[in-house]
Parts: sequence; structure tokens; C-alpha cells
Amino acid sequence: MRKPIIAGNWKMNKTPAEAKELIEALKPLVADAQAEVVVCPTFVCLSAAKEAIAGSNIHLGAQNLHFEPKGAYTGEVSAEMLTSIGVEYVIIGHSERRQYFAETDETVNKKVKAALAAGLKPIICVGESLEQREKGITKEIVSLQSKLALEGLTKEQVAGVVIAYEPIWAIGTGKTATSDEANETIGDIRAAVREVYGEAADEMRIQYGGSMNPKNASELMAKSEIDGGLIGGASLKAEDFSQVVKY
Ligand code: PEP
Repeated sequence: MRKPIIAGNWKMNKTPAEAKELIEALKPLVADAQAEVVVCPTFVCLSAAKEAIAGSNIHLGAQNLHFEPKGAYTGEVSAEMLTSIGVEYVIIGHSERRQYFAETDETVNKKVKAALAAGLKPIICVGESLEQREKGITKEIVSLQSKLALEGLTKEQVAGVVIAYEPIWAIGTGKTATSDEANETIGDIRAAVREVYGEAADEMRIQYGGSMNPKNASELMAKSEIDGGLIGGASLKAEDFSQVVKY
């Protein structure tokens, strides 16, 4: 059985004080959640968030990392720096980073390896553009992205990573893949990973992301292949996020 995992991607929102306030409001609302709950604030909010989640069932994730351990990489943060302040998860290869910050399948793979080497659990984002969906190549795109992101990993490592399937056209747009579409594509991702890593693919958790909210969460989460959600907009308010967490 794969434990569902619901993660909030706060993107470039919230000050440390606001992060603390949101987590304090969230804690009682999700205390009895069956799913694993993760919040992913900006780097500057991680320490405040770590303090605020103490004693709760909320886990902490970052939104990015650099693949080198240290050195002349102005503005970057390494995996070891994240683990040193108690970060457990890290989002890697979000479509906004691929689109605006030139991340590639190659850098995503390097980041996944750096994260795992430091003991961080990667949440790896894959997903097709609207143009790719309309061309009918969604399965090929997400299968390739997933295989390239995981290249060189052991089966044990693959079993422990999380993939977030996020159709780019559904992120922040209010458009959601139907639960059947999301389930089918997540099944395709799992099958592609199974070709290379065998049964590890059945242990690996795969989330859906893209305008998931309190209204559509239960339908999406009822699908056999969907193991959770990566939530953007709806993770910024405690009430909304807790409703998704408890779908
Ligand atoms: C995301 O950015 O990962 C995301 C899914 O955003 P939203 O829920 O706002 O579509």
C-alpha cells in the first residue's frame, strides 16, 4: 500500500511571519489526516516553518536545490544546506523552473542524485504542454521525462522518490485534467518506470498536480494510480489546503 502524500507548493509567496501563521492555522486542521502532509515554502521561510511544524504531523520540503555541494554558485542552495536545517523533501524540475530558469532533464537528474545523496526525498515534476497534449504525445513526453529524471538510480532509490504529474496547461489555470485522464497518464508513468526498475515502480508514489482544490480532490484521490497531490494555489490558505489533505 502506498501512503498518499499531499504537498503544498507555496511558490514565491509568504514571509517567514506569514509562513508561521499559516502553519499554526493548518496544524489542528490536519492533525488527524490519513495522508502524509508536506509544506514547501521559499528558502527564507524554511527555518520559521521548521519551528512552526515542531510536534505536528506536517513535513517540510523546499522548492529547489543546486546539485553541487558548495562553491561559487551565487544565489544557489545545496542539498546539505537544506538537510542541515531539517528539510526532508525537495521539489525538483517544476515546470516553472523548466520554463523560466532553463532547467533540463539533465539538471533535474543531477538534482535528484544530489538530493538522494544528502538524504532528501525528491518530488520530481513531469508534465506535458498543451501543444504536446494536442499532438497526442503526452505518454511519450512524461515517460521520457520520468526515465531521464531517474537515470542511474538504484531500485531502492526509485521506490522512495515521489513523482508529481503536472500537465503544464493545468497549473494555476483553473483547468484540471479529468480524473480519468490523470489516472491514465500516471499509469503510463508507472509503466514506463516499471520497464526499467521493475517492482520499485509500484512502491513509488505519483501525485497529480494542476488546479487541484477542495472541490476536485476527492474524485482525483479515488483513482487507483493517484497517490496524492502537489497543490499550488489551494495550499496558501489553511482551510483550503486542509480540505484537500483530507479529501
Ligand atoms: C503547482 O504549481 O505545482 C500547482 C499544481 O499549482 P496549482 O495548484 O495552482 O495549479
